Amino acid sequence: MNVSKKMTIRLLMSSIIACLFWLCGFLYFSHERTAMEKMHLANQTSAVSRIYNCVVNTQEIGMQGYFDSFVMQPKVLEILRLAREGSEAEQAVQRTRLYRYLSPVYEQLRERGVRQFQFYTPDNRSFLRFHAPHLSGDSVVARRPSVVMANREQKVVQGFETGRVLAGYRSVFPIVYEGEALGTVEISQPFETFRRMMEKAGEGAEFLISYDATLLLPKLFDEQKKMYTPSLFSKDWLVEDMHHDLADSSPDPSPLARQVYAGLPQLPAFIRALAERQPLSLAIGTQNGFYQLTLLPIADVEGLPAALVLALSAAPELDEILHNFRLHLLAFTGLVVLVCIVLLLFLRNNLAMSAKQGDFQLIANTISDGLYVMNEQGVITFVNESAARLLGYSRSALLGQVAHDCFHQHKDGTSSLLHCPLCNVFRSNTRFKGEEAFYRQDGTSFVAEVASEPLLEKDRGVSAVTIFRDISERKQLEEQMHELCNTDPLTKAFNRRYFLEVLETEVQRSKRYGVPFALVMGDVDHFKRVNDVFGHQAGDQVLKEVVAAIQARIRSSDVFARWGGEEFVLLLSSTSLESAVPLVESIRENIRSLDFGEVGTITISFGVTTIRDGDIVDTLLNRSDKLLYEAKAAGRNCVRFSA
Ligand code: GH3
Ligand code: MG
Ligand code: MG
Repeated sequence: MNVSKKMTIRLLMSSIIACLFWLCGFLYFSHERTAMEKMHLANQTSAVSRIYNCVVNTQEIGMQGYFDSFVMQPKVLEILRLAREGSEAEQAVQRTRLYRYLSPVYEQLRERGVRQFQFYTPDNRSFLRFHAPHLSGDSVVARRPSVVMANREQKVVQGFETGRVLAGYRSVFPIVYEGEALGTVEISQPFETFRRMMEKAGEGAEFLISYDATLLLPKLFDEQKKMYTPSLFSKDWLVEDMHHDLADSSPDPSPLARQVYAGLPQLPAFIRALAERQPLSLAIGTQNGFYQLTLLPIADVEGLPAALVLALSAAPELDEILHNFRLHLLAFTGLVVLVCIVLLLFLRNNLAMSAKQGDFQLIANTISDGLYVMNEQGVITFVNESAARLLGYSRSALLGQVAHDCFHQHKDGTSSLLHCPLCNVFRSNTRFKGEEAFYRQDGTSFVAEVASEPLLEKDRGVSAVTIFRDISERKQLEEQMHELCNTDPLTKAFNRRYFLEVLETEVQRSKRYGVPFALVMGDVDHFKRVNDVFGHQAGDQVLKEVVAAIQARIRSSDVFARWGGEEFVLLLSSTSLESAVPLVESIRENIRSLDFGEVGTITISFGVTTIRDGDIVDTLLNRSDKLLYEAKAAGRNCVRFSA
């Protein structure tokens, strides 16, 4: 797979991972936001409920105060007692008395928001309506459960209640005088008073009260029904006095509130809460920010959820939650992008590195030389195919091995890793080039030409790359060449070229250290005749045998060579003339005594000399040659010598 394809795949994978990661972050922040919104809205529901309860408590205390101050007066009690005991005519008289007496109180109460002030007999009949004093005696059992309850249980009953005229919050107090139940009195307030008080306490919230049509309409006088119109959010919920027929009617909802109420039927949560009569707060997004709408069901005195309080207010907290959500998401997105960029740069570098590594491996595996890399501990971290082949291992078998222990033996005979010249490369930051013995897996060895270089990291050698090749064959060839250059092909004795080299060295050595040596020159006698009589091949054979015979009698430190034809030279190192002559004599005698087959016997003549002061190679050779000539002249088969 090429680099760009790999990069594309990695890019794709990174993008998918980044998107998934971002999605997780988005879901987390969204969940946080939703949880915070829920918490805020739940708090808002509690707050509206608290405001309502607070207003109710305040009003109830106020009504109790009115009752205690204005109703529980001796004169009122006396009128009621007389009315209770008297005939219908007497009751009418007392009704008139009560009306006259409490009319100023009624006026005061009206000024303070009280809508209805009405007395009832103990058997739940209306005794005196201050708003309609001419109507009395009618039973309220069917439409005033609060009155029935207060009369029956002789306890204060306060709560929301609908009626034939208007719905309101009623406080019904039982009137007891000297242990005798004299009936009850109702002091009712319109819900509008509550609404206004809630608005005062609600800090900018707009309140609306709505009534359950199914509970309200059956109780109303027909002419009263026009006072109630369907609300903007449901035809089943009615709003009182939308046309401002009453003096204390509530103001029109604000345009925003109208818009919100009209949109409520589209909110399933609202519809559900409305159907289940459950309190709920909703977030309403507008162009000007968030608003919150709270729905609070209100139970009437019988416990039926007959009314609703709706509170609408700006919700800067929700704006802040949204703002924080966006801020966190933005910061998180930035972080993800940053991580992606860093990751991509890393991936690109990584890919470039692996591409380089791939190239390196390809090159390394293409070359025929062995190549391996070892770390500071001498452990092989990379090895190419050729190295494995040359050493007889598989690449995997070599990886992880200490090269030194596995196949390397030092030329100088040391074996410790500390002395390994290849490991010293990264220890001393120097190159190594030389020949080392490497061992194959099968135990055989070969001479390797080795070059090792340290691989630097921050100018410090942390590993070394070593290239080697098997030079055994070359060595062998070199040896063969050496032999060819220095030996005589027929007799295998050294040749004249080699002998001259050695002689020159020996002359220098002798001059420097004063070590004597003897130079012997020999020539087979009448050899021409051997060739002539027995043939050239027989002559060759004789020459070989002569060489073998002489070589058998000299030391390894002596150098014996074929000078040319049937002439030989012998250098006897560290040998004086006195020691040389007997040796040469013995050689001569030995040759003479040998049987050369069909050729019979042969003889050799020798000239022996030793190095003198001022001698050079030529003077030495001339002298020995001259002595050999003398030996020939003296009749052959003899040794002539001279210092
Ligand atoms: P002298 O006793 O005076 O040395 O007599 P000679 O015959 O040995 O001397 P000469 O120098 O006249 O002859 C040497 C002969 O050696 C001549 C030549 O054919 C023979 N010869 C030289 N090299 C070889 C060789 O490699 N093989 C054979 N078979 N003969 C050789
Ligand atoms: Mg000769
Ligand atoms: Mg000869």
